[in-house]
Amino acid sequence: MKYDIKVTKTNQSHISEVDFENLPFGRVFSDHMFIADYKNGVWGDLRIVPFDNIPTHPATSALHYGQSIFEGLKAFRNSNGEIQIFRPTKNLERLNLSAARMAMPALPQDLFMQALDTLVLLDQKWVPTSAGSSLYIRPFMFATDEYVGIKASDNYRFIIFTCPVQSYYSAPVKVLIADKHVRAFPGGTGEAKAAGNYAATLQPVQEARANGFDQILWTDGIEFKYLQEIGTMNVFLQIDGQILTPALNGCILNGITRNSILQLLADRGIVAIERNITVDELVEAHQKGTLEDAFGAGTAATISHISHIGYKGTTLTLPDIEGRTLSQELKQELEDIKHDRIPDRHGWVHKIAVNVLI
Ligand SMILES: *Cc1c(COP(=O)(O)O)cnc(C)c1O
Repeated sequence: MKYDIKVTKTNQSHISEVDFENLPFGRVFSDHMFIADYKNGVWGDLRIVPFDNIPTHPATSALHYGQSIFEGLKAFRNSNGEIQIFRPTKNLERLNLSAARMAMPALPQDLFMQALDTLVLLDQKWVPTSAGSSLYIRPFMFATDEYVGIKASDNYRFIIFTCPVQSYYSAPVKVLIADKHVRAFPGGTGEAKAAGNYAATLQPVQEARANGFDQILWTDGIEFKYLQEIGTMNVFLQIDGQILTPALNGCILNGITRNSILQLLADRGIVAIERNITVDELVEAHQKGTLEDAFGAGTAATISHISHIGYKGTTLTLPDIEGRTLSQELKQELEDIKHDRIPDRHGWVHKIAVNVLI
């Protein structure tokens, strides 16, 4: 179905003020944004407008009770100058799973795709051309009832805005294994990309940073025994030649990078093992010298290698990054697919026809 999206263009693009060689992550915003409002059970008032503040009633339900979800994906420019987005329908699928868990309405896939294409096409000049850089796309939905009572809102707003971002140089990360704070637990919202999940991690992460770590490697919420994930990345280990990642169990976000890595491994005939992984076996593997690699996987940096793992006062030092050939190759392969440098054999790339004028 084709939706009627009203487009109001800015009469003052601020693109000339932006230094594309020096882009801080998530602080530079493109000229336009897409907005849809959900009212009386339907998404309507579909519009693209100049990027601006949005008026907020002080009783806006999302601000008080946290009915708020988001997604993150990227658009890349290939060597022909075409724009391509990596697996956007997976993000929509996940947005709708998050929405269901948070008692929020689903967004139709064709509406999401039309909004995405129209917005990115309109702001096509904002998709950076320099190697490794991209346009970060942030879709999000929040409750807009103006009501102080606690209940699922009747009204919602869905917005997409975009930010040009530089090639994300992923310095190796030092992670601290959680043994006190919890991110997610069975029956909770760990599997949803829900705003509150991240709020709950901020104070423990501050504490970890004060102790010289970058991120927390979360463990299960009951025994602090099983690995979950890191910040906004899923975790992978390579022990004695085997690739392991925690099984999806409702507490872990079903990452699109995770899923893509599992597929690329399968393409190489490598069966990664998805199962419960204990902190003890990680520590033991390190002691035996069989912990060959550990990395995080997510849209922001694709693959971020882990250099150190802190646990109960001791710090494990992992092997040199240079020697971790499999994950280096996977990272390169994923980047190459995203930029159209190698065949897209799984149909992951969604191309936007930049020659079509609107
Ligand atoms: C977004 C996110 C990820 C990574 O998901 P991708 O789809 O690969 O970007 C992993 N864990 C958490 C908690 C996240 O929020």
